[in-house]
Amino acid sequence: MSTDVIVIGLGHAGCEAALACARMGLQTVGITLRADRVAVMSCNPAIGGTAKGHLVRELDALGGEMARAADLAGTHVVTLNASKGAAVRATRVTCDREAYAHAMQQTLAAQPRLTVLEGEVVDLLVRDGAVVGVTLGEGRELSGRAVVVTTGTFLSAVMHVGERQELGGRLGDAAATGLSGALRRLGFELGRFKTGTPARLLRDSIDWSRCEPQPGDPSPRPFSLRTPREGFPSRPRLACAVTHTNEQTHRILRDNLQSSALYQGAIVGRGPRYCPSLEDKVTRFADRARHTVFLEPEGANSPLVYPAGLSTSLPADVQLAFLRTIVGLERVEVARFGYAVEYDYAPPTQLLPTLETRRVRGLFFAGQLNGTSGYEEAAFQGLLAGINAGLGLRGEPALVLGRHEAHGAVLLDELVTRGVDEPFRMMTSRSEHRLVLREGNAEFRLRAHGGRVGLVTPLEAERSAARAAAIAAELARLDARHHLVALRRPGVTWASLVANDPDRPELDADLVDELETEARYAGYVKQANAAWTRRLDEHDRWQIPAGFAWAEVPGLSTEAREKLSRLAPTTVGQARRVPGVTPAALSLVLVHLRRTVPSMFHVER
Ligand SMILES: Cc1cc2nc3c(=O)[nH]c(=O)nc-3n(C[C@H](O)[C@H](O)[C@H](O)COP(=O)(O)OP(=O)(O)OC[C@H]3O[C@@H](n4cnc5c(N)ncnc54)[C@H](O)[C@@H]3O)c2cc1C
Repeated sequence: MSTDVIVIGLGHAGCEAALACARMGLQTVGITLRADRVAVMSCNPAIGGTAKGHLVRELDALGGEMARAADLAGTHVVTLNASKGAAVRATRVTCDREAYAHAMQQTLAAQPRLTVLEGEVVDLLVRDGAVVGVTLGEGRELSGRAVVVTTGTFLSAVMHVGERQELGGRLGDAAATGLSGALRRLGFELGRFKTGTPARLLRDSIDWSRCEPQPGDPSPRPFSLRTPREGFPSRPRLACAVTHTNEQTHRILRDNLQSSALYQGAIVGRGPRYCPSLEDKVTRFADRARHTVFLEPEGANSPLVYPAGLSTSLPADVQLAFLRTIVGLERVEVARFGYAVEYDYAPPTQLLPTLETRRVRGLFFAGQLNGTSGYEEAAFQGLLAGINAGLGLRGEPALVLGRHEAHGAVLLDELVTRGVDEPFRMMTSRSEHRLVLREGNAEFRLRAHGGRVGLVTPLEAERSAARAAAIAAELARLDARHHLVALRRPGVTWASLVANDPDRPELDADLVDELETEARYAGYVKQANAAWTRRLDEHDRWQIPAGFAWAEVPGLSTEAREKLSRLAPTTVGQARRVPGVTPAALSLVLVHLRRTVPSMFHVER
């Protein structure tokens, strides 16, 4: 059998890659361990969140699918950071877990040119430095002109609960055991990371009256530009709630650390810093009296609740004991206990910015395999890998977005240029352009690219261009009438400013929101861009004195402090390039250096 593109794995990265290739006109085969487990959310039943919501809107603007599936499956939508600036506002949608997977599976099934095969890929066929196909477990070969590998947490995966270990990439799923060896034989380096998930609780055993309710947005905006506003949201809302751990919970954890897989040394892989296990939290933040727990129902027909914040690999009896110390969970019953999973990842510095491997032509890697963490990070990579596999086969120029165009571009650039030393989570602070990379303008930044590659129809691309033009025209009109200064004042809205203006255009609520943000941010954006360009070449000339005490830089995150102390960069430029040192962290470093070592800034040009 032969095809154009083979996608290995149909998780969040694989679904986007496979759909993109098929929609770009290529015969595509997606191979996955279990066809009934396509697009499964392995951990929390939610899409979006800070920076992740940005990625989803960017993916949607380019013609990806995740946003639409989340709209169909959403049971609770909230805008995070609603009281903060527009740049950090982010959408988070709690989903009906089954409905999400079902929506994606139906989209795949209905997609012409896309075939889903169940099986395990155990080897890659390579001829003259280019991939030419794959071998499946039973020895069957499949030829393909490009291969996208999106194997997630499954390569040589081991699950840990307390002292018990078993092979498996996710509860209920086997591990993929052959492909790691195949990748090594081709000369790829592999490393080991781990991640974990909390217990699943029975909804009726929770005393919801003792938890704080978490209301969703009363009239949420869909994630996808393709979801009709009318009739949205289509699914009944489900209540979410908040509770907290306490001293007693922490004591049980501390008393039992020796039985956690993490602390016995059974797990060697590093875990995600921004999604730590509860064992990690009580150890690393020993002074914190409590940690927040979000209770998220897994779906209208599911008896399960996902307690976000309680990921653990402690033995089952210890999990039950600490859960029952939490307010509202005193009588909780557990349907499935939490566990950790350790898996192989491929350091992403082995990739080109297109996500094609440097070593083998036509072979692309995307998703958690590249050392990232999270559905949204995986999906964005899957989409871009699929697009570039497709463009390559069509003989067209690759799509490599600039860091000023998308958070997704920052994600890819960080991966392929700086690499990862722990599971990589996207954050808005990683971008030096975050003021312009807002959820609200993803459409204007990226839809034309989606149009160029053929994932967005010409009509959709034109519509977005017309909407962007409407904002620009109105900003110019206000400027000509000297109204822009007034619009930048706190409390002044566009509606109040033009209430009696007979020439005011008709603008929908989203456009008005974007117009007001553009007007308010314009000055800051200009200043920030000019300053950043000037600074880049200065950074490499500013020498940091040997023995500089990184631990004393105030306000630095634990991640940045640890890494700077360990790597001891000798110039500001080097410090900027340390993985985990965000533009925000760099500003703190510069403020401290200016105060404590002012002489280092007096350098000859
Ligand atoms: C226990 C657990 C806890 C997690 N906790 C978190 C968390 O707290 N926060 C967070 O952000 N993320 C978490 N994740 C990670 C999250 O699930 C991933 O980020 C996301 O699913 C990655 O998407 P992906 O497409 O790269 O891979 P996956 O969704 O893992 O999909 C991989 C796909 O590849 C298939 N596959 C693998 N090998 C082969 C092969 N050789 N042949 C054929 N098919 C193959 C599998 O069947 C699967 O369909 C957790 C994952 C697990 C398992």
